[in-house]
Amino acid sequence: MKIHEFQAKQIFRKYQVPTPNGGLALDSEKARQIASEIGHFPVVVKAQIHAGGRGKGGGVQLAQSLDEVCKHTEAIIGMNLVTHQTGPEGKIVKQVLVEAGVNIEKELYLSLIPDRETACILVIASEAGGMDIEEVAATTPEKIIKVHINPLSGIQPFHCRKVSFGLNLPSAVIKEFSQMLTRLYHLFIENDCSMVEINPLVITKENRVLALDAKMDFDDNALFRHKDLLEFRDLDEEDPLDVEASKYNLNYINLDGTVGNMVNGAGLAMAVMDTIKLAGAEPANFLDVGGGATAEMVENGFKIILSDDKVKAILINIFGGILRCDVLAKGVVEAARKTEIKVPLVVRMEGTNVEEGRRILAESGLDLFTADDMKSTGEIVAKIAAS
Ligand code: ADP
Ligand code: MG
Repeated sequence: MKIHEFQAKQIFRKYQVPTPNGGLALDSEKARQIASEIGHFPVVVKAQIHAGGRGKGGGVQLAQSLDEVCKHTEAIIGMNLVTHQTGPEGKIVKQVLVEAGVNIEKELYLSLIPDRETACILVIASEAGGMDIEEVAATTPEKIIKVHINPLSGIQPFHCRKVSFGLNLPSAVIKEFSQMLTRLYHLFIENDCSMVEINPLVITKENRVLALDAKMDFDDNALFRHKDLLEFRDLDEEDPLDVEASKYNLNYINLDGTVGNMVNGAGLAMAVMDTIKLAGAEPANFLDVGGGATAEMVENGFKIILSDDKVKAILINIFGGILRCDVLAKGVVEAARKTEIKVPLVVRMEGTNVEEGRRILAESGLDLFTADDMKSTGEIVAKIAAS
């Protein structure tokens, strides 16, 4: 689960990770009030959407007066902000963060992520932070430093020194930076984060260290023990079909292609998406209905795929284990009866009760194709989607 910058900054403040003063505004009147409370200029007006790259897209503006704060707020709220992370369709901005402008001496990059390969928390940092970090990573990767922290022993002073020296920090800020990194590490662990990113982390002309931007992502599997964080969820920022699927505990991710697919088991689902691509088409989603899916879950999954306008064909590939083929077939027939199917359906199933499952499908009167192996299943559905 991702959250907004202003929410991440609230968590930062709780952990005493320094950020500029500011507040959230839904209109220019509130923006003016926050700016006058800040009491000095420049003030920065920042679009709050879940994507980065807002600065380059015109979603971060400096204001030198209260009138300018209002003007920028009115221009940003309601705008369709397009950044490299929103995709070409962009995102409508509903709220802005109004915060104190900072005298920037240097912009750094700092992030924490879990590193699965080493089972460590990985600190990634660069002294070439700011809006062009992707370019830095692509052209001068040596400017990016990495420090692993073993979660069993936790963060130690030597980790902080390693990052500080790697960032060429002036000696006057090393102590403050080390304190901030240590707090950030605890914030990361205690909230079960899957990412914390600060770009830019700035050194001010007054030699202070401040998080100017804040991005946080949480491990969804651990959210059950962070009920307070769930209040930060913003459904407007999520794909509507993903939200619908999450209501039924379906493992669904909406994608860009035209071949809808429903599979049991994440590994098999990945293999099916590969097969679809190999046959020259693109998957419209990832959907793992799970090993123990009920007919109702299959029906709901099917309905979600059918409500996706870009789907031109549907592939169902189920290995009948705990989820038996006859249960699957019943779910498909039920969903098909209740929903008007406008696209061809290709079904492949194997495993427990496969004969019964095939009989149910054959006698349903549904217009569907059946296939025997993965390769031909992919080829049939790709051909249909392309026609
Ligand atoms: P994004 O990463 O989405 O572009 P940022 O929050 O990183 O958004 O803002 C983009 C740029 O705007 C920053 O790199 C920084 O130069 C400037 N900026 C952001 N917040 C402030 C602030 N409070 N004071 C001064 N400059 C800021
Ligand atoms: Mg940024």
